[in-house]
Amino acid sequence: MFNKRIKIKQLLLLEPGSQQVTVMGWVRSFRNTQFIALNDGSTNNNLQVVAELGKFDEAILKRITIAASLKVTGVVIPSPGKGQKLELKATVIEILGDSDAEKYPLQPKKHSLEFLREIAHLRFRTNTFGAVFRVRHSLAFAVHQFFNERGFVYLHTPVITASDAEGAGEMFRVTTLPAQNPPLTDDGTINYKEDFFGRATNLTVSGQLEGELGATALGEIYTFGPTFRAENSNTPRHLAEFWMIEPEMAFCDLEDNMNLAEEFIKYIIRYAMEHNPDDLAFLAQRLADEEKQLPQDKRSELGLIEKLDFVLNNDFERITYTQAIDILLQSPAYKKKKFQYEVKWGIDMQSEHERYLVEKHFKKPVIVTDYPMDIKAFYMRRNDDGKTVAAMDILAPGIGEIVGGSQREERLDKLLQRMEAMHVPAEELWWYLDTRRFGTVPHAGFGLGFERMVQFVTGMSNIRDAIAFPRTPGSAEF
Ligand code: ATP
Ligand code: MN
Repeated sequence: MFNKRIKIKQLLLLEPGSQQVTVMGWVRSFRNTQFIALNDGSTNNNLQVVAELGKFDEAILKRITIAASLKVTGVVIPSPGKGQKLELKATVIEILGDSDAEKYPLQPKKHSLEFLREIAHLRFRTNTFGAVFRVRHSLAFAVHQFFNERGFVYLHTPVITASDAEGAGEMFRVTTLPAQNPPLTDDGTINYKEDFFGRATNLTVSGQLEGELGATALGEIYTFGPTFRAENSNTPRHLAEFWMIEPEMAFCDLEDNMNLAEEFIKYIIRYAMEHNPDDLAFLAQRLADEEKQLPQDKRSELGLIEKLDFVLNNDFERITYTQAIDILLQSPAYKKKKFQYEVKWGIDMQSEHERYLVEKHFKKPVIVTDYPMDIKAFYMRRNDDGKTVAAMDILAPGIGEIVGGSQREERLDKLLQRMEAMHVPAEELWWYLDTRRFGTVPHAGFGLGFERMVQFVTGMSNIRDAIAFPRTPGSAEF
């Protein structure tokens, strides 16, 4: 009869009036052999359970240790103590699982985020990660709600793919061939014909190409799944395994694409703010405390909640790549030689440049459009100037690039030209090119990195703290 329990989140909303309830959860602390702070993961707010002195066996009380799991039946009464409206006066306490307090790795004190990463199997039990993962859930749910409300079809694109033509990043090979002495071809290379799929395969870096196949028949689709990049970049914004949301829309140009992306970002932020106010308030306080240790000029100007409110209530800035480069060239930072990397038209902007635009110059999210053709993927639609493509990146304060998207090249001849120039093998992508051969349409889409979004909303500065079990170079524990 476990479903007879009430979750602490619901219980805390009751008007205390001697209702009898049963709760279950884990002990966060036990004071004066009388006051148990019980948490069941439904909220960061603990329930105060009172075990009246003299009412319970010594043997039971001894087993109420940090992290032990309990089933408590009692009555909900107004709390005379400070800090809570109500408390649970226990009538029956049952120990579901003991916990050796001496050996428990999470002591009731502040642990660093680095340390918590080493015990990621237990970090859900901290207030910080409880809040992060409830917010992450809300954002994920809001993603589906947003697209569902607009009639998009959720398309599951493959995780294992044979196309290595996208050029988005280094790929992880998927193979069942033996690592030692794999079968070889006559010229001494590995013979993937003998591999499981009869060819070389990889984990996907993006579902976009398959997404385009769906969109050019179903109209509007989105994907939301794991993507993999074996990029050896140890940064606070890159994971080897991350979740990406990729909508793809037929009958859609770059401007429609930007409008949708901006509306989408605002929608999921608003959803989390409406559904997780306590968690966000906790995370805002955590961030403020963390930033107190930074020098004044490194602290954020706005608190977390103010930042999110600001994003909701203001239009994103929209500028072209060419304008962005001009702003950088005119900037005091450039004149004082503060940028480590070169600035000139044609560069792939580095994180320092993106952050300057967003954090120093505009102080709000910025959509940069019309990038030089040569630094973008082959499928982006060529602009009439012959030099740029209809691409758009959305840059967010503290994160940098959060969305990358474009209008796609729907003209077969132009697409083939680009593929040839960029050495993308057209024969391998025959299925992709068929969309341009049979009823091609203007279409567009984008990819949003879900963990970067979670970072933005929760204020966690390292992407490893925005996913339950981060995979990064040299690290795949748990
Ligand atoms: P970056 O320049 O930051 O590496 P990218 O240009 O490689 O990004 P895209 O290929 O456009 O990114 O991917 C779409 C989105 O996926 C990005 O805007 C970002 O939000 C996210 N993303 C890309 N690579 C990673 C990664 N390694 N870990 C987490 N998120 C990522
Ligand atoms: Mn990248």
